[in-house]
Amino acid sequence: MKDETKCLHSGYSPQNGGPGVMPIYQSTTFRFNSVKEIAEVFDDPTKAHIYSRFTNPTVDCVEKKIADLENGVAAMCTTSGQAASLISVLNLASAGDRILSTSAIYGGTVNLFAITLKKFGIIVDFIDVDANENEINSMIKSNTKAIFGETLSNPSLQILDIEKFAMVAHKNKIPLIVDNTFATPILCKPINYGADIVIHSTTKYMDGHALQVGGVIVDSGKFDFTNGNFSDFTEPDKSYHGMIYTRDYPACPFIIKARAQLMRDFGCYPSGMSGFLLNLGLETLAIRMERYCENGLKLAKFFNNHPKIKSINYPGLENDKYYSLAKKYLPSGTSGVMSITLKSGRCETMEFMDKLKLASKEVHVADIRTCVLHPASATHRQLSDKQLIDCGINPSMVRVSVGLENIDDIISDFSQALA
Ligand SMILES: *Cc1c(COP(=O)(O)O)cnc(C)c1O
Repeated sequence: MKDETKCLHSGYSPQNGGPGVMPIYQSTTFRFNSVKEIAEVFDDPTKAHIYSRFTNPTVDCVEKKIADLENGVAAMCTTSGQAASLISVLNLASAGDRILSTSAIYGGTVNLFAITLKKFGIIVDFIDVDANENEINSMIKSNTKAIFGETLSNPSLQILDIEKFAMVAHKNKIPLIVDNTFATPILCKPINYGADIVIHSTTKYMDGHALQVGGVIVDSGKFDFTNGNFSDFTEPDKSYHGMIYTRDYPACPFIIKARAQLMRDFGCYPSGMSGFLLNLGLETLAIRMERYCENGLKLAKFFNNHPKIKSINYPGLENDKYYSLAKKYLPSGTSGVMSITLKSGRCETMEFMDKLKLASKEVHVADIRTCVLHPASATHRQLSDKQLIDCGINPSMVRVSVGLENIDDIISDFSQALA
């Protein structure tokens, strides 16, 4: 099936006389006829649903749909994108290990990696997303367990050369984890270029309607965890009566371990209702992405030619630094997110934003409605203007997320506010 068809039909097949729409299983638990049957599910957790802290039939359908869209073999939903990042890393690294991440990643992930994981004893090294193979290779130590990057970074809109990072990761016998939130599997399927694990904040385009926070982890099923670097996958799990993930589940050991071990212990699993709402968003994902890209490019061209705009980051523009990587990895469009920097100062930038009537000011992105965010007064508020510039954020920068309104209405709103 092609993507538009997968969005509607993957994951759930109605039975004869059964509901045509995926039902909501809003139940914490599942009943069995005998103790023996429960024991059998504990032996093989893929056999049935036991408890909604780690599996649920509605969420299960959504997981199958997302795995299918990403060309993966299995997926696991989480209650946030942050939880997806955390679990994908903790499934590979323990205290004493390292992770190598590009620095072109979401601010929340930077906090998680640089500060919180450090308290867990995991060190994250950061590397420039434009680094060459030798530079990447030289950052990998004997205890580095994975490389992490974002396809299309939030908010800087830099593009990860997935093939380059995958090649260096595989030469060092470690997997590449790619956060594919902004691209979605409609614009880019990182697994096709060598990524081993793909994660998302489903809060953004996948849900799409600003209804609920969520995340997902997808297993490509391609990484060889028996290569000697990952004993947690190849030795009996004492916490799960001796299960050996690579032996017992050779097709998708990553997701089974993440679920049986980490989701069981952390319990950040979405409810049936959440799965249902996420599925509604996914049903129209392919067709929405097409329009986000179309509106995004038109708005980016408007900003690109506007005398009051100093610069714009949108890799779909021919004059953007990442245009050639965009052609390769995101050939059908580069989403609806861009960042613009005004020629005037911080106060005028805030005034410009306050003058917007259609575009909403909120801490969100990749939504169905056009929205804007001023990093200097929101996500990076604690920094002085000088500190902002030192870390690459101009006080006059605005992150713009174009929605599905008519593009003429969107452009006239930005036009009057700039005027
Ligand atoms: C928003 C975001 C996250 C975090 O997701 P939440 O659902 O807010 O926890 C992670 N990565 C990227 C690229 C994001 O945009």
